[in-house]
Amino acid sequence: MTCRKCKAEIRIGDYPFCPHGRPVTEEYRPFKPFYDEGLGAQINSLAEWNREMKRKNADLRDPFTPGQMSAYKDKQRDRRKAEGRC
Ligand SMILES: [Zn+2]
Repeated sequence: MTCRKCKAEIRIGDYPFCPHGRPVTEEYRPFKPFYDEGLGAQINSLAEWNREMKRKNADLRDPFTPGQMSAYKDKQRDRRKAEGRC
């Protein structure tokens, strides 16, 4: 099947109207670089993240305590302010 508007090939499971695409779960989501508070490092890729986690023997499953969580949020807010993003 071909779209009448943009002539794109529409396969089963594709969104039938322009712009086409697959449901969100199947879409490619690019890695967004971020600063990891726990590791204290700027993370620019998944590989870098895994490497940094391994190097510091960190575990994703370590949950934040409520105190750590609010400290984390304060830090995030302060950094956003410093960067002029809010
Ligand atoms: Zn189309």
